[in-house]
Amino acid sequence: MYFVMLGAPGAGKGTQADLLSEELGFPHIASGDLFRQNLEKQTELGLLAKAYMQKGGLVPDEVTIKMILERIAAPDCDSGCLLDGFPRTLGQAEALDEAFAVQGRNVDRAIYIHVPSEVLVKRLGGRWICRKCQATYHIIASPPKVKGKCDRCGGELYQRADDVEETIRERLRVFFEQTSPIIDFYREQGKLVEVDGDKDIQEVTRDVLSALAEEK
Ligand code: ADP
Ligand code: AMP
Repeated sequence: MYFVMLGAPGAGKGTQADLLSEELGFPHIASGDLFRQNLEKQTELGLLAKAYMQKGGLVPDEVTIKMILERIAAPDCDSGCLLDGFPRTLGQAEALDEAFAVQGRNVDRAIYIHVPSEVLVKRLGGRWICRKCQATYHIIASPPKVKGKCDRCGGELYQRADDVEETIRERLRVFFEQTSPIIDFYREQGKLVEVDGDKDIQEVTRDVLSALAEEK
């Protein structure tokens, strides 16, 4: 099964995709993580993406689509995956459908996690991420057992350079302008599963799993 996680920055897409990945056994593929890994390695792709990411804008479709299609062509995605942060434009959603159609695959469900804007800003301001395994923490909602260290792999935790108020506001603006039309795109295809993300992390996971079970 192929899942798309939809929601504004900070809605909990990465957090839920990680938990769902464990529960369902499909890999979690996050476009933002792929860009950040490329940036860390100073690849051409990473350096190109850097300018857009720093400002809170979107990396051009052409580059982003190529990166994701290459990633999901890997054997670990043969029976499914959870896409987090992609698609983010109608062009990306259409390109994904076209590529899948050629391969006899399709997006099965788009899971839309909605959270009020003021909550999103607070969440992103308190987000800490593991440099090694990308696990996500929050200083209040889900703190690590040892300050600054990842529970899962012991890696160092850091705050993203784009998790600062001005860039957060820009990312939210970009979401409402460029990404939110995708919600209707999947709704019209009868694939949208909507979940209230303004609840405890575990409660949101339970709601997603029961919504998916109902839709079967
Ligand atoms: P996204 O991938 O949608 O940008 P994340 O999954 O990274 O969002 O979550 C953003 C921040 O909010 C993280 O610090 C995460 O720990 C925290 N978070 C995620 N889900 C919840 C929740 N249901 N309640 C409180 N905090 C949450
Ligand atoms: P994220 O980790 O999902 O919050 O993404 C971080 C940043 O990476 C975004 O603000 C964009 O600059 C870039 N990015 C991630 N995914 C995409 C995408 N699908 N399309 C364009 N840019 C993206």
